[in-house]
Amino acid sequence: MKKLFTALAAASTLVAFADTYPSKPISIVVPFSAGGPTDRVARDLAEAMRKPMGGISILVDNAAGAGGSIGANKVAKAAPDGYTLLLHHIGMATMPTLVRNIPFKVESDFEYVGMVNDVPMTLIGRPSLPAKNYKELTVWIGQNKGKINLGNAGVGSASHLCGLMFQNALGVDMTTVPYKGTAPAMTDLIGGQIDFMCDQTTNTSTQIEAKKVQAYAVTSSKPLTTPALKDLPTLQDMGLKGFEVTIWHGLYAPKGTPADVVAKINAALKVALKDADFIKKQEGLGAVVVSDKRMEPAEHKKFVAAEIAKWSPVIKAAGVYAD
Ligand code: ASP
Repeated sequence: MKKLFTALAAASTLVAFADTYPSKPISIVVPFSAGGPTDRVARDLAEAMRKPMGGISILVDNAAGAGGSIGANKVAKAAPDGYTLLLHHIGMATMPTLVRNIPFKVESDFEYVGMVNDVPMTLIGRPSLPAKNYKELTVWIGQNKGKINLGNAGVGSASHLCGLMFQNALGVDMTTVPYKGTAPAMTDLIGGQIDFMCDQTTNTSTQIEAKKVQAYAVTSSKPLTTPALKDLPTLQDMGLKGFEVTIWHGLYAPKGTPADVVAKINAALKVALKDADFIKKQEGLGAVVVSDKRMEPAEHKKFVAAEIAKWSPVIKAAGVYAD
């Protein structure tokens, strides 16, 4: 009898909790620096989710470092109450293979809320690089072997994965310069402190448009239509057979977040992803909002598991790990 009473009391607390959620500001943890490509998506998303969340403030918390694992770990260990969420990208699928000792489990430490967008990447160089197009870039790389500095957002980040694949495809080793996100890497690229980077279009398109960096190619399988990127060739067209890196973002809550709360966040996410202004902003940055199917938590989980299976052999073949 006592057990039944306890169970009923716990259940009614949960119902009451879900009824009043959200009643205070929510934070979306971004595991990279402010002003970078994932931060950009998070800030647009936070704005678009505010209204469907009943007008509650949604703040972005940049817990940057270690290629995105510090922020992910923060959310894995946060209270499962729906007030701390994580926006992360393809790193959720590459980290389990790339990083030997990640302090959390991608598949079991999170509630999957739904996916957000797909984002291609761009090969960009410092403004003073003598190469003016992709062909010239490959010549320049050939002439500067052993001297090229490649920026990235740390082991496990999208720029790390893309840079790694590019070096493998060309058979050239570059010196990696890791940052806490590609926002500070971009500052150094513009300043000429590093030579080269592969970064998400949500960070590069505005810099390319402003002619602050040189752009050489996109990593999507098809050319892009975004004005700033539409003249760039794909790496496949430039002869790198099968080269495609399109990263994606998804929203997560700590494991154990009540199902009703996850459902409320998912409902707000769906409203945000249908918001014309949000869609326009994403398109302007070369990103594409996911299909209705991939907005569903179960699909999100299935997709990440498939991406882990897809990338694991690629990373193992490249033989790059970090502790
Ligand atoms: N998404 C990272 C950032 O926001 C960059 C990366 O993963 O390469 O800085």
